[in-house]
Amino acid sequence: MKYSSIILFLVLFTACGSFKKNKELYYTSKEEVAVDMNFLASDALQGRDTGSDGIEKAATFTEQIFKTNGVKPFFETYKDTLTNYEQPAYNIVGYLKGKDKSLRNEFIIIGAHYDHIGVDTTAIEDQIANGANDNASGTTAVLEMAKYFGKTKSNKRSMLFVLFSAEEKGLLGSKHLAQKLKGQNLDLYVMLNFEMIGVPMVDKDYLLYLSGYERSNLAAVGNGYAGEKVVGFLPKAKEFSLFQRSDNFPFHNVFNAPSQTFSSFDFTNFNFYHQPGDEVELMDFEHMTNVINKMIPVVEKITNAENREIKYN
Ligand SMILES: [Zn+2]
Repeated sequence: MKYSSIILFLVLFTACGSFKKNKELYYTSKEEVAVDMNFLASDALQGRDTGSDGIEKAATFTEQIFKTNGVKPFFETYKDTLTNYEQPAYNIVGYLKGKDKSLRNEFIIIGAHYDHIGVDTTAIEDQIANGANDNASGTTAVLEMAKYFGKTKSNKRSMLFVLFSAEEKGLLGSKHLAQKLKGQNLDLYVMLNFEMIGVPMVDKDYLLYLSGYERSNLAAVGNGYAGEKVVGFLPKAKEFSLFQRSDNFPFHNVFNAPSQTFSSFDFTNFNFYHQPGDEVELMDFEHMTNVINKMIPVVEKITNAENREIKYN
């Protein structure tokens, strides 16, 4: 190696190193997770019932985060009005165009429902079901990933960041959006959904389980991208057919593209499912931060892989 090429090599090596470091700077922190969670699960939002003033506040909060981080509206505005629900209800849809000309027609959807069940006026003490775990936690994952990709613009494929409304009314927001996008001939590569990631599982050698685990190679490919076992199989998820019980399912039905949900609610680690006790104080921000920061590079590799490596079996 000539002296000049050694110098060139050193310069390139240093540049690559600092770029990697810069990207990690944009990973989320416990503090940022806390800001999202404390707002979304606060009493001021009154349990984020679909069509309520409370969920409207969550919508505005989300739009603000998209806007300040360079995530654009996919439709005319961020709000995608549901056509299958009587009260005004909106999904929030953010868009990042892929930077690779030949891949940008392919889309990755990162989603979570941001609605919850609202207020139970018959309850004697606490009437507000704050929905911290279900699903302020998944919403926070989407928001923090939107921030990361909005700042780095590192995605070769195009991305949609979606907060679904009316999940608790029967997956209405996702049913509406899946049909609408299909009508526009969107080319969906994968749909990755986040549900109840606020509390870690006990005695597992993985951080998240995947619904519909055996249907695709997503867990295997994802763990390969992560370089460690982040995602695993939870038998209970199969037993309770969780694959069919969240917003991934309409995308599976309409597109037949890999559409699956990541979660760390294992039926033993949280006793307040759909209860007023689903409070932010019970959430483990350290776990959430870890989950999000392990998933960011996985999602990045999904958006940037030369070929579509994730497939249904
Ligand atoms: Zn949920």
